[in-house]
Amino acid sequence: MSEQPIFAKSLRKTHSDGSYDGLRSNAMIRVFRDRIEIDNRPIYWQYVRELRVYGELLHVIYVAADGHPVEEYFRNVVFAGSKGARELAEMYAHVAPELKKVSLVVPQQRAVAADEPGKPRIEVRRVSRSAGHGGRPLVTVHSSRVAFPVLCPGCAEPATHVAGLTMSGFYSNGGWWAVPVCANHSKVKQWVGVQKWAGSEVSLECSNGKWADAFAAMNEETPDRALVSQAQSSPLAFALSTGSRFVVYQLVASLVYLSVSTISDPVEIKRDGGTFLPSLPHSFFTLLLGWWSIHGLFATPIAIYKNSRGGFDVTENVKALVAGVALSPRGI
Ligand SMILES: [Zn+2]
Repeated sequence: MSEQPIFAKSLRKTHSDGSYDGLRSNAMIRVFRDRIEIDNRPIYWQYVRELRVYGELLHVIYVAADGHPVEEYFRNVVFAGSKGARELAEMYAHVAPELKKVSLVVPQQRAVAADEPGKPRIEVRRVSRSAGHGGRPLVTVHSSRVAFPVLCPGCAEPATHVAGLTMSGFYSNGGWWAVPVCANHSKVKQWVGVQKWAGSEVSLECSNGKWADAFAAMNEETPDRALVSQAQSSPLAFALSTGSRFVVYQLVASLVYLSVSTISDPVEIKRDGGTFLPSLPHSFFTLLLGWWSIHGLFATPIAIYKNSRGGFDVTENVKALVAGVALSPRGI
């Protein structure tokens, strides 16, 4: 069987906004008349809920074997102008009529009243819940985009600060999320355990049941209104309205062959406040621990320079949190 694909190319996996950072990875995308193959995994059109092309971005939502929707984004990275977008547009022109022909196959219990004849509507289960270690609530969001309630994961009280939740330990290169916290529970990893963190799925083990409920409710297809309005009237929203900015600083630590770069928790810089003074502890840390590898020799002065120039502004990120917007993990 030598079937010719309509499209075959290795595409960069990205976040929903097309950006990528840290661990770059590609997926082999092959498109045939009846299916798309992602790294040799065939997904027939009957299981594809959405396939869209935005410029050089390809967005696919399909129903996985367990009934969950999986959302993936790929970017056709081409250096020559609009070639990437043109290739995807040509592919889409071929498959759009095929996609229209098939009706979506979904598990019976989730196929509710049809929106149009022959096209059952999926009731999307964006969030699922189970028990983690010691019966602690484990909330899984089946998307790369996650929204956080503006409540502290430690005490479920309104959050006043923001912490950076990294994928694992100290290392932030796989991206990180800005997570609202209170002043007493700013070490976010003590309250939220990252169980899984993949392009299309995030599982968090929560220590506070009330927060777990709020986190789940924020990530449903229709986020909880009361939580969104709480976010919009939270102390963080007030800080933003008074002109506060949020900044992270870079930290580097090295030991012979090992070198890690990460970020500080977001620091609030009040209106007219300077960014240099808050950078000092982070730069001092880097100055002490950064140098001790070849990579560190280069990374340390860059980090110190960037920190002294004001660090990295993540105010837009905090604004999105307060607006209840679901975001992909970000890099700096
Ligand atoms: Zn707290």
